[in-house]
Amino acid sequence: MNQSSDADVVVIGGGPGGYVAAIRAAQAGMRVICIEDRPALGGTCLNVGCIPSKALLNSSRYFWESKERWGRHGIVIEGLSLDLPAMMRQKSEAVRTLTSGIDHLFRKHKIERIQGRGRLTVGRVAVSASEGGTRDIEAPSIVVATGSAPIALKDIPIDEQRIVTSTGALALPEVPEHLVVIGGGYIGLELGSVWARLGSRVTCLEMTDRLLPGMDHELATQLQRILEKQGLTVRLQTKVAAARRLGETIEVSLASSGEGRLETLQCSHLLIAVGRRPSTDGLGLEQAGIDVDEHGFIKIDRQFRTTTEGVFAIGDVAGPPLLAHKAMDEAVACIDGIAGRTGYVNYDAIPAVVYTWPEVASVGRTEDELQANGVTYRAGRFPYRANSRGRCTGDLDGFVKVLADEKTDLILGAHILGPDAGTTIHELVAAMEFGASVEELSRMSHAHPTVNEAVREAALAAHGRAIHI
Ligand code: FAD
Repeated sequence: MNQSSDADVVVIGGGPGGYVAAIRAAQAGMRVICIEDRPALGGTCLNVGCIPSKALLNSSRYFWESKERWGRHGIVIEGLSLDLPAMMRQKSEAVRTLTSGIDHLFRKHKIERIQGRGRLTVGRVAVSASEGGTRDIEAPSIVVATGSAPIALKDIPIDEQRIVTSTGALALPEVPEHLVVIGGGYIGLELGSVWARLGSRVTCLEMTDRLLPGMDHELATQLQRILEKQGLTVRLQTKVAAARRLGETIEVSLASSGEGRLETLQCSHLLIAVGRRPSTDGLGLEQAGIDVDEHGFIKIDRQFRTTTEGVFAIGDVAGPPLLAHKAMDEAVACIDGIAGRTGYVNYDAIPAVVYTWPEVASVGRTEDELQANGVTYRAGRFPYRANSRGRCTGDLDGFVKVLADEKTDLILGAHILGPDAGTTIHELVAAMEFGASVEELSRMSHAHPTVNEAVREAALAAHGRAIHI
């Protein structure tokens, strides 16, 4: 510890990467300063990402299920209606409680929090505080955790009212009559699902030939069919050339890559969900000698060190996968490294979840990746329509797929489309972390009747021994 400096660690950014790094450093006995621009801690995730989107996904699912699905369970609701302001209040309450919870944790750990914008200067951080004035802070270790921001499209001006990013789509004051979503990634599908469930006509436009690029192919194809059954229109290989607002209407010009002809779509709202870019504007990376890759993400090594000594980077700003739990894992490992312990993240076992209904969850390698790398593997599949719990709840869509190395039987990847897939996947994450074989997974007792039994059956299926199919 260096008492002549202002702190032992300065963290720029108070999102899942930054706030977890700050807490972990304080737990290790370090003096910590965390600089965050937003009034509330928690970053994108808590303020305009994971939490508000999951709050709305849950609320909208309750509404949709009570309208479309509960009748078959004998639950008849007369005069069901939507109170959108109440739904939005519930979302805001979840955000407020969780962000103020981080304030409490900062106080508990005696972390100094400065509200303002941090900028790197050589060996220091300069902060322009939100209440005016600047301050120079010196510390031996600086952790950059400034996250990411939505990518904008050229010539499509965002007003966050009619032409929105995910931030605007989380706070619309009314159900859009027709929402066009540009981008068939997880953010577009989640927010498209929210508004479709609440009564909006939703059209999702995806430039490539599939939804959820990068995830398991079979899973993306089945999800598309399910979402279409739920009322979403999906158009693949469809590129947006331009969009403009004409009063209450948005006109979207398409260049259909298939036939190359131009077409226009009219809608009431347009959501741009084409990906996220690193938040590094005004951070002074170049002056500080910090290298970035071709997409602008900060280059780091396995210990999260940037090209400038004493400066580390974690979370979204340090590259994909852009996930809150990956940012938190890196935060812990980075601080452990600074504290002289061993910090390590197993990037092969980071789950990714899409919170549509049914949910999509993946960990490890996809079949496409294994094939591209010439790995010989076995695949075991089990459909939810053969799962007894699925029969009870009526959740019959989807499947579990487990991929195992042909020679060693080690689990290389798992892909689930099904009810609560985001919870079920953790059994496979644990199995992979502990180096389990598919044989071991298939011998593990699974409570009956649960959705997790589909995991055991998929493991059995990898050796041609599934019981219930
Ligand atoms: P951020 O959360 O972006 O935090 C960075 C913080 O740094 C921000 O608060 C920013 O204001 C601040 N900052 C930036 N520059 C400066 C500066 N110069 N000075 C001071 N402060 C600065 N991930 C999941 O894992 N699960 C999900 O369900 C999920 N859902 C999502 C839904 C949506 C709609 C969106 C947009 C994202 C979602 N994500 C989800 C992604 C997740 O939000 C990010 O991966 C996560 O927030 C990254 O954490 P971070 O700490 O790296 O960055």
